Amino acid sequence: MNIILKVFIFIMMPLMVFSSEGGDQVGNGGGLGEQNVYYGFINLKNIYLFCLKSDQCLSNKKEKALLTKIYNSLDQEYKGTGILRFLSGHDRPDIFKINGQFKAAVTGNKVGDIIYINTDRLYKKNHQGYVEPVGIGSAMGLLTHELGHHHNILEHDFLELLGSRIRAFSTFSMTQLYVDNYLDGTNIRSPLLKLTGIHKQLITGRYLDGAQSSLLFADENFLHDLTPWVSDAVSVCPRFRNNPASKNIGYRLFDIKWGDMYYRDGSEAHRTYVITSRVELFCEDNVDTSYPVRFDTSRKLIIKLPIEYTYKRNSGVLNSYWGLRRGLIQVKFASDELKLGPFF
Ligand SMILES: [Zn+2]
Repeated sequence: MNIILKVFIFIMMPLMVFSSEGGDQVGNGGGLGEQNVYYGFINLKNIYLFCLKSDQCLSNKKEKALLTKIYNSLDQEYKGTGILRFLSGHDRPDIFKINGQFKAAVTGNKVGDIIYINTDRLYKKNHQGYVEPVGIGSAMGLLTHELGHHHNILEHDFLELLGSRIRAFSTFSMTQLYVDNYLDGTNIRSPLLKLTGIHKQLITGRYLDGAQSSLLFADENFLHDLTPWVSDAVSVCPRFRNNPASKNIGYRLFDIKWGDMYYRDGSEAHRTYVITSRVELFCEDNVDTSYPVRFDTSRKLIIKLPIEYTYKRNSGVLNSYWGLRRGLIQVKFASDELKLGPFF
């Protein structure tokens, strides 16, 4: 191990200002911070492609050249059992403590080298005292810095800037919404629920295959990828006028919102949170199969998420468990009204 580590590049990440003294962590071991890093990692391709095609993401040729290299190596980075390893710096100072300082991440200088992520840096307390995990955008910035090292780039400052550009740009491609618990009860703390939509590049031309949007829902313990449910719900395009139902070849979500929520009270609270989103469908045309049909946007997708949590009624203390009952997620369309969009 020591021999391997000697050739590693050790990284200080000012971007990741998360303190290890943040108190109790959420989900020790496989918590939300780790999951956000993972989802940031697997969504890098979408963000990079979008960034490279945009005028507003990178500022010079050097950045563009490196990001292109990183982008072109991603398939190789994704191969195998995965290159992300999550370890506590406190437990593994042999990996993370360099020149007396704990690093947020450590990796080598070749494509496919393991990226060690210091889990002590993945959480921080917010101003309300809640422990919050690192966000997906920040994780993308961190990973971009690390992946840059895989191309033998040694300048941390340069990589830091590149990482921060990716972090900033990722917000263009993401919808991030916390549930608004205002007026939700005065003596219990409601769960912090966050919805993240990650979209591929703006739809132009023929980038229509598959899900153009991923939808991730996080409670305080886990991140749930709702994309498979959404994909199932839109897998068949409904019949339109005289055309029979056809196959869906792709879709994109937009205008994603939290909808009304329903709850019943008791010693256990059961609440149904609702997400609404408009969706654009790209469908095979049964009449002329050489052109897809684009269904316009009156179609509204409704996703019901039953969340269960318990609290001690008299103490006003919310127990730390709530979770999604996955089997109960409902995804359906609000109505069968459809507009037929332009052919292209
Ligand atoms: Zn570095």
